[in-house]
Amino acid sequence: MVGFTDRQLQEIQTLLLEKKAQLEQQLQDAESATGVVTLDQTTVGRVSRIDAMQQQSMAVSTRGKAEASLRKVIGALRKIDAKDYGYCSNCDKPIEFKRLEVQPQASYCLICQDKLDQA
Ligand SMILES: [Zn+2]
Repeated sequence: MVGFTDRQLQEIQTLLLEKKAQLEQQLQDAESATGVVTLDQTTVGRVSRIDAMQQQSMAVSTRGKAEASLRKVIGALRKIDAKDYGYCSNCDKPIEFKRLEVQPQASYCLICQDKLDQA
């Protein structure tokens, strides 16, 4: 373990569980939004159909992002269970707690993340 206290880990775990619940909700919402575009019964018209289609494509991209984040969050929770949490997946060095507090699902340290972002 990276020298996190149980309290810190618990804090992170709580953050992750909250995120997980949020993302699952988001995915559920997106699920209903990405269904077949139906005409709104109350405001039938070309405009509302275009609106509906725009909303649908936005929902599709939101959903993709939410799915990717959810996978990371679940992965981080598994790592906590496996007592393998807090190490960079690239260089194996401990990730700073401050970073994890903001982004508990982060699997890279700042240095590696920077490199990845630039690549
Ligand atoms: Zn690293």
